[in-house]
Amino acid sequence: MDWGKNNVNAGPLPEMKEICIDHFVGKDLESTAFFLSHAHTDHTVGLETEAFLERLKEPGIKLYCQAITPILLGDFERYLGGEAGIEKLVRCGKLVPLDAEKTVEIEIPAKPSSYFVELTLLPAGHCPGSVMFLFESGSKRILHTGDCRISVDDLKVMRHLHVGPLSSGHVKSIDHLFVDSTFCSKSAEVFPDRRIAFEEAINYVRNHLKRGDKYYIKLKFAARFAHEYIIQELFKVFRHKVHVNKNRFMIYEQIPGLRDCVTLSPSTPFHLCDKTECFCGKETLTVRLSSMWYTKAQAETRSPIMKKGSFLTVCYSMHSSLTEIAKMIDYLKPVAVTPVVKPNGCSMQEVQEALISLCGWRFEYEDYQSGKSHLITEDSLSCDKSPRPLDGNEDAEECCISLPKRAKIDESNSKWNYCFTPSPTKSASSSRENSQEIIADGLDFSTLDNNPGTSKVVNNLKHTWRKQDFHENHGF
Ligand SMILES: [Zn+2]
Ligand SMILES: [Zn+2]
Repeated sequence: MDWGKNNVNAGPLPEMKEICIDHFVGKDLESTAFFLSHAHTDHTVGLETEAFLERLKEPGIKLYCQAITPILLGDFERYLGGEAGIEKLVRCGKLVPLDAEKTVEIEIPAKPSSYFVELTLLPAGHCPGSVMFLFESGSKRILHTGDCRISVDDLKVMRHLHVGPLSSGHVKSIDHLFVDSTFCSKSAEVFPDRRIAFEEAINYVRNHLKRGDKYYIKLKFAARFAHEYIIQELFKVFRHKVHVNKNRFMIYEQIPGLRDCVTLSPSTPFHLCDKTECFCGKETLTVRLSSMWYTKAQAETRSPIMKKGSFLTVCYSMHSSLTEIAKMIDYLKPVAVTPVVKPNGCSMQEVQEALISLCGWRFEYEDYQSGKSHLITEDSLSCDKSPRPLDGNEDAEECCISLPKRAKIDESNSKWNYCFTPSPTKSASSSRENSQEIIADGLDFSTLDNNPGTSKVVNNLKHTWRKQDFHENHGF
């Protein structure tokens, strides 16, 4: 499988070639500071190679990510030497897990001399550990969204994107926005609110469970790690834990807030396991969370959920819709925009046309890998193409591949209890009554090296996870 082939503009930033994002092979290895937005396979290309590991061993070379990402990466034996290798890299300060919404100054090795940038990780609302990277140097401010599901309301409460108090609404000037364009297509112009989709699905689930003890729910995610937030929401509504297999349990038990919602005991009506014996003699409703099917449906027949027999498919996109992307651009008003992903079955020309058709803000269009760079004007494009369905899956995932066998994690690994930011932060004023803050203190980072600017940051991490209420326009 050719993971990452659609991430056409992943790799080094054109303005700061030492900074390389979500692509770790070939000439990319000439960069000196590497960044991983989240642990999905189309963003990890090269992390499995000896060449990248060798590069990482060189003085000053580091890989940065959100603090939960190493936990998830550890479930894929091939990356960075597997779980033991990842742990070692964190200990020696080569893999730097960072908390979201805190600005740190990092040193970027360069010739003839290193330079410093301020880095802020912002919640991307895509999957556990997913973040956007905000880079600020003296001369440039660059925002890279990775994969994201972000509404303007989410952006409005991200203080690191604003000058002065949030209430002023004064957005920092962004020189270059690298944006998740997975659904930059007319066929994905609008997605239903995730809250509405969830509530409709909950009604089906409730009615199914009401019928008796042998009525079970089987959950299917769009990716190995994707919709974990749903597990918590289901627990909140039904007070039943979700049965998961041992490998998944060992990952989840390291994530504050999630560990209490999963179980190794099969005597629960909710299952995210792959054990056929769990469903033997049961009446099972399979709940599949996905969004690609929605883009393929005829506009007039679209609904947040689709029920067919014993299958309930819920439109629960992990990526921003075209409208959400356009609104993000209009809000941030970046000088230049680079779409990072080529939607399946679409050309980059179509991406460009889809953006211009919805954006009010005029920006420089930069598809630097294809060598396209120019100011978009109405005249330069032929808009109004009728939407056509996208192909394939929304993420290059491996949910169909069985999880590898792993050794049991011992108790000394409790330091892996990093934070989990499943969704963008709502404003404190509007969500305080509904948010829940879990702080896991006392974690042991003493074994990390004393590299200034990294281990210091990690040692000072507040392991904070804010569980948000559903968002009005964003859901989830
Ligand atoms: Zn992803
Ligand atoms: Zn089960």
